[in-house]
Amino acid sequence: MSDEGGICSNCGLPVDLCVCETIAQEEARITVNIERRKWGRLYTVIEGFDKTIDLGELASKLKTKLACGGAAKHGHVELQGDHRAMIIVVLSKLGFPEEQIAVDWTFQRRGRR
Ligand SMILES: [Zn+2]
Repeated sequence: MSDEGGICSNCGLPVDLCVCETIAQEEARITVNIERRKWGRLYTVIEGFDKTIDLGELASKLKTKLACGGAAKHGHVELQGDHRAMIIVVLSKLGFPEEQIAVDWTFQRRGRR
């Protein structure tokens, strides 16, 4: 979000009237992938957010809703654990249209210790 003196630097409207963030949410193409890190821990990595979106705030909302650890890093959000089953529901409640969220279901948990 860019908030300079109450005027959006993207569209030039007062921040109260600005819908840049809403548009960015509606146009986002979000991908959800699972990564296995050391000790076999699984992380849900969510990418594709527009830079107008406050990822720190989003990460904390997701962590609360999914009751897990996580962080916003370099333009993506990562959450501890495999949250693919819930992430679409949670993200759509936060304003990201379901049809724009692509979840990678190919990752299998087998081989997990
Ligand atoms: Zn704007």
